[in-house]
Amino acid sequence: MLGMMMDVPLTIGLILEHAKLNNPKREIVSVSSSGIHRYTTLDFALRVAKLANALAKLGVKKGDRVASFAWNGYRHLELYYAVPILGAVLHTVNIRLYPAQVAYVLNHADSKVIFFDNTLTPALEAAIAADTENRKRHFISMGAINTKLKPCVEYEEFIGSESTTFESPVTDEREAAMLCYTSATTGEPKGVLFSHRSTVLHAYGACLPEVMGVNNLETVLPIVPMFHVCAWGYPYACLLVGSKLVFNGEIFDAPRLIQLMNSEKVTTAGAVPTIWMRIRDELQKSNTKLETVKSILVGGSALPKSLLIDFDRMGIEVIHGYGMTETSPLVATTRKHLTAPLAEASEEEKIAQRLKQGRIAFGVQWRAVDENGNQIPHDGKAMGEIQYRGPWITSGYYNNPEATKNAITKDGWFRTGDVCTADEYGFMQIVDRTKDLVKSGGEWISSVDLENTIMGHECIKEAAVIGVPHPDWVERPVAVVVLKEGKSVSEPALKEWLADRIAKWWLPDRVMFTDSLPLTGVGKFLKRELRERYKDVLSNTAEQPKT
Ligand code: AMP
Repeated sequence: MLGMMMDVPLTIGLILEHAKLNNPKREIVSVSSSGIHRYTTLDFALRVAKLANALAKLGVKKGDRVASFAWNGYRHLELYYAVPILGAVLHTVNIRLYPAQVAYVLNHADSKVIFFDNTLTPALEAAIAADTENRKRHFISMGAINTKLKPCVEYEEFIGSESTTFESPVTDEREAAMLCYTSATTGEPKGVLFSHRSTVLHAYGACLPEVMGVNNLETVLPIVPMFHVCAWGYPYACLLVGSKLVFNGEIFDAPRLIQLMNSEKVTTAGAVPTIWMRIRDELQKSNTKLETVKSILVGGSALPKSLLIDFDRMGIEVIHGYGMTETSPLVATTRKHLTAPLAEASEEEKIAQRLKQGRIAFGVQWRAVDENGNQIPHDGKAMGEIQYRGPWITSGYYNNPEATKNAITKDGWFRTGDVCTADEYGFMQIVDRTKDLVKSGGEWISSVDLENTIMGHECIKEAAVIGVPHPDWVERPVAVVVLKEGKSVSEPALKEWLADRIAKWWLPDRVMFTDSLPLTGVGKFLKRELRERYKDVLSNTAEQPKT
């Protein structure tokens, strides 16, 4: 017997409608190099309708892909809603990919309309110049037009005279809504295609007090970029509960972020550890305070202990979040109140517990399996790969059957490539990574691509690239190389050679020379041993700009 409740599809349009009706006066504030912009949720919703109408008039249809190449801001937020309610798919391009990769993802997604911030024009032009397929596209400039890319229209002109009402044609909650690409260990980025249903359920989950816990009383600053897994879901979760939203545009320097949080009375914000460490250092250096912030979400990489302790001292709760593009992203968090069962434990033990990636949110099923496919015991010691299943977990990669085959188990679980332990309290801790990537300041660097480039040098016989702990970037690449017999090249000379061939921020911080590289039984580089051997080589490294 079926239940008798209404079968209303869970769509992004529902969040928009709800926000417009129930929190019309909630403010949305955006700062950027061109100044500050504020409007209400009602103004926002009316402009979303105009944008959806303008896109429809341009010929964008259900299922078409529309790309954004932009910082966090109100127009980007309008795209987050207008494109999906039209039934099209917003492809948020990571502006930090190098030009050929941007061209690749635009072509792979077949995004024919590109909205871009005019402060990013040079990067977009470089990507279009790198596009060997020369596809026809429409460009919409957010800000005055400063490019020769054609055809190009200015955003305000594009939406100008459109109607402020729009009837969404989306009737099936499983329709695609957003498309984000994530780095692959080798080769080109892989696309993760979110649906309306997955996006709404993820936003619901994120609002639970056990997860991000955003609510109507909060003013939220998602510092995490909107080109990174939908800014961790904030743009949807905040409108769902009616939080005030603040965007920081291209402003990432710590003094201005602190000033912004204080002037807009921000109560919670989310960013990768690198950003929070800079904010912490600036607060200490300038003896200033975050006057209204009650909690911060630290995610994308493991939470450093010193960060937790320092923010605890300031009376600000650190929420440690873990997830991936493939998981929408939130799957696990550690919050202070979740460690209540450890009431009798020492302070040191409580801190150790809060540094774990934490407890999995309702809606996501998980298991951790060892090399033989057996589930590991939850004893805090045994290690296994963590795998997921659930309504906001990907079932495969967009138009990429090969990657899908490797990522999904025969019985339908998503393989993360993260290795964890699990404890008796239901907390999970990431202890290693099987995927061969380095995560620097929240952005991926492919070890394999770097190794192949380095091995193209005439003096290098073998190269292995590993991620090594770094005080500012959490992790940076270090190359361990073996020279060809009778050949020699110095570390600076090798770096100079590499600098012409890779993005500047991919350049290994150190090149270590060795006589031979340790190998696994199947002849792969034994990176675990190398990571252990070189784990301290960057511990005293001073901050260096990477972009
Ligand atoms: P991305 O898809 O770029 O968001 O990267 C996801 C990956 O980043 C995960 O599979 C982990 O390897 C890593 N990651 C994300 N959050 C954390 C965290 N809190 N602690 C440790 N690793 C993390």
